[in-house]
Amino acid sequence: MNRKIADIRSILQEHSKLFQNSIPLIASENITSPAVDEACASEFSHRYAEGWPGQRVYAGCKYIDEIEIICQDLAKEYFNCVFADVRPISGVMANLVLYNAFTSRNNGRMCAMPIPKGGHISHAPKFTSSGTPIFGTAGTVRGLDIQYLAFDEEAMNIDPDESAKIIREFEPELVLFGASVFLFPHPVKELSDVAKEIGAYVGYDAAHVAGLIGSGYFQDPIREGADAVALSTHKTLPGPQHGTVLSNREDLVKELKHAAFPALFSNHHLHNVAGLAVALAEMLEFGKKYHKQVIENAKAFAEALHERGFNVLCEEKGFTESHQIVVDISNFEKTIGLGGDIERLLESANIIINRNLLPWDIREGRHYMNPGGLRLGTSEVTRLGMGKSEMVDIAEFFKQLIIEQKDPKKVKNEIAEFRKQFQVVKYCFQSSNKAYEYIKFY
Ligand SMILES: *Cc1c(COP(=O)(O)O)cnc(C)c1O
Repeated sequence: MNRKIADIRSILQEHSKLFQNSIPLIASENITSPAVDEACASEFSHRYAEGWPGQRVYAGCKYIDEIEIICQDLAKEYFNCVFADVRPISGVMANLVLYNAFTSRNNGRMCAMPIPKGGHISHAPKFTSSGTPIFGTAGTVRGLDIQYLAFDEEAMNIDPDESAKIIREFEPELVLFGASVFLFPHPVKELSDVAKEIGAYVGYDAAHVAGLIGSGYFQDPIREGADAVALSTHKTLPGPQHGTVLSNREDLVKELKHAAFPALFSNHHLHNVAGLAVALAEMLEFGKKYHKQVIENAKAFAEALHERGFNVLCEEKGFTESHQIVVDISNFEKTIGLGGDIERLLESANIIINRNLLPWDIREGRHYMNPGGLRLGTSEVTRLGMGKSEMVDIAEFFKQLIIEQKDPKKVKNEIAEFRKQFQVVKYCFQSSNKAYEYIKFY
């Protein structure tokens, strides 16, 4: 065998082994089921089908059309809306669809969340207010002028009263809700009314919380006033990496379709559309149980860390209402270091997390490379079958590593042992045949 191919195979196997022996707590990640993987590895991965089903630019799309329509229908059912475009190839592309549809190019105005408070780089301007280039998507690609919504650092949420003032004064074309650090539902209802007063569209970026929304455990942005929702399909929604745009406004459908194709992409990664269809079928069947457990685990994990002396944000609000928790680790600065250092320490014992800026970090002179916080998510460990008692076990590993400073090599071995009972993806059809039966009878 060609040596390079042999290398690639063995490196991929090493990667799988690493994740089979680790505790995966990245809030933006999840794990796909065997049925989703099968669909993603299908013949569709090397085909082209530009355009809408039935109106393709290529021949040979008969079966691709069938699957894409099934995928749209499953998305409309799961999210309870009249329009679903499953073509955007990622969450950022889905956001760009909203920007294309709802804002003017160059100096169009948008209100959104700032990055240090949990906003995403795709919502950001090209330059910070002090002129430093950050190349945010909204500014760089669309030339948008961004005014940030006000943020209540104690509540870890958008401040509705201050933000209403900002929206009235700035008069944006689009008000975008949603974030990457997302503990509590945003005040969409209150602020949608304000946005509509001044004639602005309301968008909602559900990249992180799409699964929680679809299963009915977070907020319902469409019913609360969002004209369109953009999402990633692979965070709390455990599908392949892809994007989707939803809307309940029949009058905006044409605009939204054109804002996606041909404006943003040609082909749209058809294997992932097939994989997404399977993931949506799984969530219609198992999502209620799964996402209920995801949120319960996040609360239990927060509680267990708090009991062991960690400063988990928002104790008085029950820590979280999503799949995420945020921990302020600045009290370990003298013993271990800040977010980047703790991320590396945990990684050396196979606990995979990400460091995160706290809302006050920039003000206190901290940088995203070594911020004061950690963001932890329970989507993947829950999908592996873990429950509340395992959240306590994981909190105990954190204590051993960060507080007791136990040898990471020893903890790593204990973690490999701990993971042995959690090797099968749950909340999915256990044989891929069952998944396809569901889709066929749908
Ligand atoms: C992750 C994320 C995205 C980007 O999603 P991709 O699918 O990686 O492009 C967009 N918005 C928010 C709020 C996110 O957290």
